[in-house]
Amino acid sequence: MTSLRPTALNQLFAPITTVPGIGSRLAKLVARVAGERVVNLLWHLPTGLIDRRYTPKIGDAPPGRICTLTVEVLAHSPPPPRNRRVPYRVTCGDATGRITLVFFHAKDDYLERMLPVGETRLISGKIELFDGRRQMTHPDHIVPPDQAHQIMRVEPVYPMTEGLSPKVLDKAVTAAVAKTPDLAEWLDPAYLARQGWPTWQSAVRAVHAPKSEADISPLTPARARLAYDELLSNQLALALTRLKARKRRGRSFAGDGHLRAKVLAALPYKLTGAQQRVLDEIGADMASDDRMLRLLQGDVGSGKTVVALLAMLAAVESGAQAALMAPTEILAQQHAETLRPLTAAAGIRLELISGRLKGAAREGLLADVASGQVQIAVGTHALFQKDIEFADLGLAVIDEQHRFGVHQRLELAAKGRGTDVLVMTATPIPRTLALTAYGDMDVSRLDEKPPGRKPVDTRLVSLDRLDETVAAIQRAVSSGAKIYWVCPLIEESELIDLAAAEERFHHLQQTLGESVILVHGRMKAAEKDAAMAAFQSPGGPSVLVATTVIEVGVDVPDATIMLVEHAERFGLAQLHQLRGRVGRGGKAGTCLLLYAPPLTETAKARLSIMRDTEDGFLIAEEDLRLRGSGEVLGTRQSGLPMFRLADIMVHAELLATARDDARLIVNRDPDLATPRGQALRTLLYLFEQDDAIRTLRSG
Ligand code: ADP
Ligand code: MG
Repeated sequence: MTSLRPTALNQLFAPITTVPGIGSRLAKLVARVAGERVVNLLWHLPTGLIDRRYTPKIGDAPPGRICTLTVEVLAHSPPPPRNRRVPYRVTCGDATGRITLVFFHAKDDYLERMLPVGETRLISGKIELFDGRRQMTHPDHIVPPDQAHQIMRVEPVYPMTEGLSPKVLDKAVTAAVAKTPDLAEWLDPAYLARQGWPTWQSAVRAVHAPKSEADISPLTPARARLAYDELLSNQLALALTRLKARKRRGRSFAGDGHLRAKVLAALPYKLTGAQQRVLDEIGADMASDDRMLRLLQGDVGSGKTVVALLAMLAAVESGAQAALMAPTEILAQQHAETLRPLTAAAGIRLELISGRLKGAAREGLLADVASGQVQIAVGTHALFQKDIEFADLGLAVIDEQHRFGVHQRLELAAKGRGTDVLVMTATPIPRTLALTAYGDMDVSRLDEKPPGRKPVDTRLVSLDRLDETVAAIQRAVSSGAKIYWVCPLIEESELIDLAAAEERFHHLQQTLGESVILVHGRMKAAEKDAAMAAFQSPGGPSVLVATTVIEVGVDVPDATIMLVEHAERFGLAQLHQLRGRVGRGGKAGTCLLLYAPPLTETAKARLSIMRDTEDGFLIAEEDLRLRGSGEVLGTRQSGLPMFRLADIMVHAELLATARDDARLIVNRDPDLATPRGQALRTLLYLFEQDDAIRTLRSG
């Protein structure tokens, strides 16, 4: 992949240590704020600016304002020996007055070199008033007069991290910007002209050289252009991947309905109107010759599983096989258990292909999958593995797919001839974001819940009231309730998450004794399963303390209380999913969101939404509005693309245009072979759309 990247981009994809002044120590800090390669510095946009062009005389310099002063260095007063708390002071002056420069923990020789007595220097920083006298603590810049041009400018202000100095980062970005090549234009010339946008290279230069506050706005021509480039690369990548998937002809799975009839007869309920409608949409796709690529969105508990089964049976009725893939082993197992009685009623064979299955047992099972004796296979990503072959895979159903990449999804589909793909997600992805993740995938929505579900009573409780809360939990335990206690998610470190969960576990054990168990991500799969099974069993433990392993859909119908600690640290979509775990068995559920006070306004607003509604789509839209797209859905785990330059809320219109643009490109120039196509390849490399580039290469 590296070798095929246009050479013009090589400098940009070199490690940031190739930037002058960035050694391995600074590289680590820069990587934390921007990334590991030069190109990441280009995407690190200023969030503000400092105007250093204001050059008053000392006597006129207003306190609180950033000024650049031309001064004569008059005297140094170092602190008394071994008294580090007294600062080093340097007195400077001009014709109008004096100013003291103040340095804490300074090196004497450094200051003597920077500020020789009797010389003229330019100093830039914020003017302070101390005892009625002007002073400047740690000037941002100190230069001799002949370097005035270097500092008398509008300086961009970048998001920072501890230990990194603004000067160093500014220099690094400037050096990176200097490395930007002039690339062939990939945008449609007419569109570019209509928008009045600069070339890519000028845009990169402009965003890093703001002249006024207005230049920081995401709607400036330069920023809009870069946002559009990013969105176009995303949409083009999706369009190409999809094109490749659709190129394989699909097959028609009409089915005669005899298996589905048996299952419907065995169900203890009737399908909801929404389930019926969605099944009709899926049925039409499967019956047609085209490949199905459909997304099924349905809130937690909306009944996706039975929809998946009925769709799989349509393939089986036509003599093909089907696969159902879940994001975790526990979920795969649970799907298998839920479905087995129903497939047994239909007289077909369903098997769980566990990653843990070893040796002869595994080989035997795989042989039966390969020969077609197993009609429905349920598993995790283990179903991708090269040693698993299907006799004839007709339909792949992928549950909770936002945890899988687009690429994996297609890999599974590639195991069959024209395999239909149905992706199911419980995450209520806002329409705007859905476009970035799924492009033009067909979407079905289960927007009606099965009857009989009671609303979950959601309450916000301050952590100050932890003792009361534990007492309430204790009462609930003695009346036979099953309770989830979810511990805070701190993304940086799984170990810290674990420590927090363990601490809470021991704390609860003191009050609740044997009725508490702990489940966490570091446990071996078998231990996890055993703990979950114990919690599920009627006589088993009543309180399950967990890190977020239970987040994705484990079904314990008797659970009625969901308590989330430090709820303010979770994404709303996650909270919504967690809440969906309770009140499933016909008993009313309660959700306690414990927060650490004081809450910010935004945090308060977010948690209030949780309290006020159970509509997952509404929650997702509000979350997007309040936080911006980057953080919605706990993006890190979601597999949804993260944008550096585009802001989905602000650039929503550009996203729609980018989608249309991408479709047109792929229709006219599917191999990106024209001159514009070649330029677009560069765009894909620039934004590291590796999967899409791979589809181009494999043809
Ligand atoms: P999801 O996977 O969408 O979160 P499930 O498929 O697990 O939801 O369904 C949640 C619960 O609702 C299950 O216990 C299921 O048996 C039940 N269910 C599904 N469809 C219906 C229906 N039409 N009427 C009543 N109950 C249903
Ligand atoms: Mg489910």
